[in-house]
Amino acid sequence: MERARVISLAQIPAAAYVSKEKQIFKLNSQITNCFLCEELVKSRTQTVPGYGDFKAKVLIVGEAPGRFGADITGVPFTKDRSGIFLQKMLNKVGLNLSAPESENPSLKGVFITNIVKCNPRNPDDTNRSPTNPEIKNCMEYLTKEIEIIKPKLIVTLGLPATKFVLGNDFNGKNFGKIKKLQKFSVLPLWHPAFVIRGGGAQRMNEKKYFKYFKKIEKIISKQE
Ligand code: SF4
Repeated sequence: MERARVISLAQIPAAAYVSKEKQIFKLNSQITNCFLCEELVKSRTQTVPGYGDFKAKVLIVGEAPGRFGADITGVPFTKDRSGIFLQKMLNKVGLNLSAPESENPSLKGVFITNIVKCNPRNPDDTNRSPTNPEIKNCMEYLTKEIEIIKPKLIVTLGLPATKFVLGNDFNGKNFGKIKKLQKFSVLPLWHPAFVIRGGGAQRMNEKKYFKYFKKIEKIISKQE
C-alpha cells in the first residue's frame, strides 16, 4: 500500500478546513470498520485507534494493542503493565491528568497510538509482533494520524515502532537520542515492557526512563 499523500494545511482552502477532532473522528470510524488483516480480525476484541489531545505537540507511537490492555479497553497503553507504566511517567510530568490506572486517560499535549491498530496473537493466545504485511496494511492510518495531529516530536516506543518511523537501519544503540527530520523530530525510546523487565544491558530503570519524559515535557512547554 502506498503512503498517503501529504497535504499541508496551507494548500487547503479556508472553507474546506475541517477541525482535527472531526478528522480524527472520521479516521477512527474507518479504522473501526477495517477488515484488511484476516488474522487480526479474528484475534482482536476490537480495533484500537489513537486518542489524546487533538492539539498535541507530541505523538507517542507503540507497536500494537496488548491482549491484557488496549485490546480490552479500546484505548492504547491502558490497563496492562506497560500501559500503566507509561501513563505513570506521563502523569508525573503533568501530561496525563488522570490516575495511571485510568482506562480512559485525559492527556495534555500528547496523542498516543500504535503502528498496528489490532491485537496480534499467537495460536496459544499470547501477544505476537505484527507481520510486515499487517504493518503495511495499517500504515495508512498512522500516516493520516501524523498528517492530522502534525506533531513537533514523535516518540517511538520499542524497535518495531522506531523502525517504522526511522527506517530499518535504526539500531538499539540510538535509543534516547533525538533525530531531527524535515517535518518533526523523533525521540526513539525503549518500550515500557523492556524497562519493566529490567532494561537489558544498560539497566534502563524507571528513574533513568523518567528523565526522558521530563525532556518531553520541556519540549511541549517550549512550544506553548
Ligand atoms: S491492523 Fe489495521 S489494517 Fe489490519 S485490520 Fe486492524 S485496523 Fe485494519
